[in-house]
Amino acid sequence: MKPISFSDLENKVCVITGGAGVIGVEMVKAMASVGVKIAIVDINKDVAMKVAAELSKESGSIVIGVEANVLDKSSLENAKTIINEQLGDIDMLINGAGGNHPTATTKVEQMDESSIDNLEDTFYGLEMDGFDKVFALNFKGTLLPTMVFTKDMLKNKKGAVLNISSMNSYKPLTKIPAYSAAKASVNNFTEWIAVHLAKVGIRVNAIAPGFFITNQNRFLVMDEKTGNFSPRGQKIVDNTPMGKFGEPEDLQGTTLFLLSDISSFITGIVIPVDGGYSAFGGV
Ligand code: NAD
Repeated sequence: MKPISFSDLENKVCVITGGAGVIGVEMVKAMASVGVKIAIVDINKDVAMKVAAELSKESGSIVIGVEANVLDKSSLENAKTIINEQLGDIDMLINGAGGNHPTATTKVEQMDESSIDNLEDTFYGLEMDGFDKVFALNFKGTLLPTMVFTKDMLKNKKGAVLNISSMNSYKPLTKIPAYSAAKASVNNFTEWIAVHLAKVGIRVNAIAPGFFITNQNRFLVMDEKTGNFSPRGQKIVDNTPMGKFGEPEDLQGTTLFLLSDISSFITGIVIPVDGGYSAFGGV
C-alpha cells in the first residue's frame, strides 16, 4: 500500500495572488516543499520578483513573480499569458490578496451617549471610499482571479481553488464592518462557485485564519510605543483558547491538504485555523 502523501502536487502549477504577503509567503513555502511550480501574482511587482527569487533559491523549486492587480481583469489575463508561457497550464489557484484598511475602520468599538457628539469616530464617520476599497479587494479580488485563472482547469477538467477568508466572516469583530462583510461574502462565494464547478472537476474551498500579527492589523493589535499588545490584541489572545496569536506557517498543513487530491471529495468548505477561537463562547 502506498503511503498517503502530497506527491500528487509535484510539478503542478499554482497561482497565488497576494503571494508576496506575510501569509502568502508561508503558503508558497509549503507548496515549494512538495515540488509545486508557483507563480506569485502581486500588485507590487518588485516585492513579488524579490520574494519569488528568494523562495526559489531557498527551496530549489520554480517560483516566479508576476505583476497584476486582482481588480483589473486585463492585467490578470496578461499575467495568465506570462504564467502559461513560463510554467504551462495552471492547475491550482490560491486567492490570497485581501485585507482591511484604516479608512474602513471605526475608531470606537461601540457607541455610547458620548459618541453622539463625535460621530466621525463611529459608523457614521466611515468613508464610502474606504468601504468600497475593502469590499472590492476581498470580494471582487477573489472573484476576478477565479474567472481568469481557472480556465486551464476547465480545459483539463481538474483543479483546485483555495480562498482566504477570516474569523470575521463568522462573527464580525468590532470596528471593521467592511472587512467582516467582505469576508462573509468570500465564504458565501466559496460555496456558490464550488457548487457551480463541482461537475467540471474543479474543487473550491477556503481557509479562515484566526489571528496572526501582520502588516494590515498591527496598528490594531499592538501598542506601537510599548511593543505590548493593545487592549484589543490582549482581548484576542484571551479569547483564543490556545492563548496566543498564530504563526503564518500554521496555515501550511491546511493549504496542502485542501489543494491535494487527498481532499478529492471535499468542496465548498471553510476550515478555521484559529487556535480554537471560533469554538469558544468567551466564558
Ligand atoms: P499582506 O498585506 O501581508 O499581503 C497581502 C498581499 O496582497 C501584499 O503582497 C499586497 O501587495 C498584495 N495585494 C494587495 N492588493 C492587491 C491587488 N489589488 N492585486 C494584487 N495583489 C494585491 O496580508 P496577509 O496578512 O498576508 O493576508 C493575506 C490574506 O489573509 C488576506 O486575504 C487577509 O485578509 C487574510 N487574513 C489575514 C489575517 C491576518 O491575521 N493577517 C487573518 C485572517 C485573514
